[in-house]
Amino acid sequence: MENANLLAIAKEFGSPVYVYDSEKIVSQYERLTSAFKQVKHVKLNYAVKALSNLAILKLMNSLGAGLDTVSIQEVKLGLLAGVEPTNIIFTPNGVSLKEIEKVSEMGVQINIDNLSILEQFGTKHPDVPVCIRINPHVMAGGNSKISVGHIDSKFGISIHQIPHILRIVENTGMNINGIHMHTGSDILDIDVFLYASEILFETAKNFKNLDFIDFGSGFKVPYKEGDIETNIEEFGEKLTKRFNDFCKEYGKELTLGFEPGKFLVSEAGYFLAEVNVVKQTTSTVFAGIDSGFNHLIRPMFYDSYHEIINISNPKGRERFYSIVGYICETDTFATNRRILEITEGDILAFKNAGAYCFSMASNYNSRFRPAEVLWHNNEAHLIRKRETFEDLTKNQVGVDIFNKVEVSAS
Ligand SMILES: *Cc1c(COP(=O)(O)O)cnc(C)c1O
Repeated sequence: MENANLLAIAKEFGSPVYVYDSEKIVSQYERLTSAFKQVKHVKLNYAVKALSNLAILKLMNSLGAGLDTVSIQEVKLGLLAGVEPTNIIFTPNGVSLKEIEKVSEMGVQINIDNLSILEQFGTKHPDVPVCIRINPHVMAGGNSKISVGHIDSKFGISIHQIPHILRIVENTGMNINGIHMHTGSDILDIDVFLYASEILFETAKNFKNLDFIDFGSGFKVPYKEGDIETNIEEFGEKLTKRFNDFCKEYGKELTLGFEPGKFLVSEAGYFLAEVNVVKQTTSTVFAGIDSGFNHLIRPMFYDSYHEIINISNPKGRERFYSIVGYICETDTFATNRRILEITEGDILAFKNAGAYCFSMASNYNSRFRPAEVLWHNNEAHLIRKRETFEDLTKNQVGVDIFNKVEVSAS
């Protein structure tokens, strides 16, 4: 997207605002599917939690993607967007048997990640095919907050518990139709992924009625210049070969599944905020914006890096700034960054703001969540209104309790 378009959007819709470029989402989708074009059946299930706006879900549906969901509410959003239940997989962690049963009744593929629920679900519904989430105990990337495959992880059923899984399957007569893993975001190394895949293939041999193997996600996208990016093309080539060989060995053309979130939407997103104040201190120059970690928590939560550019002053010279928010807490987006000279009122654009940004936004400090705009066919479409004061109060009830304050006479 051109900076001029972003600037126009900030003018028209106000700030702060999230902007998503549909073209980038489409090209990432096509990149991933074409890397696996030599596999007969491929299914990409978009991980809804990355960015769950209905317009985005409709876009994914139009591309032919399914959805990967982690709550019954995400399933309902998918259905509302017109996605067929058979195109949705439910991969929750730590949710109740009741919720899983409800989602299953909607016709959605269930993916179970613990033995207790597997046994209970299989006992009650032996006819419903179930996918199981395996923990291959492979570390992905270096950040323990986003790696979910390690030994202490709460996700998945350990590969060391395969005998127990098999016993449950045999005792209940249930049918396992899929094997799944998701080792976490930011896989740095294709070889690590391929290694984990071997564990999945080994596991798959234990189940005779599989329809698919789901390799989860974890594709890394660049956040700044020089960042390592998963080489999807090379990865596609290597896994395709291995997958097709496995299918031969297994005796059936299985479906190869992935559940990318970040890969599809991260780079398509921009977060625009206005500079309220430029503040010099003894050690730095702060630019304080009309937003905070209530709207974009990743830098404070994951130490993530988001490139920030000043789109209001393209001809300015570069100076050093720390970009901070307006939340009454330490709320730093960037420290000591080279940015085109900032004047109060300028619009800053944060890149890679498509995944886990709006979807993690809150009302902390009683601020409104921002608007969302989709840039599609060279036009800006508002896809979520900015919240209003009414949104902050609409669910608050019982406030009459203190209408009559009785002050005791003294
Ligand atoms: C979050 C999640 C994903 C998506 O991960 P990305 O790193 O955004 O691609 C995929 N599968 C499951 C089970 C998830 O929880």
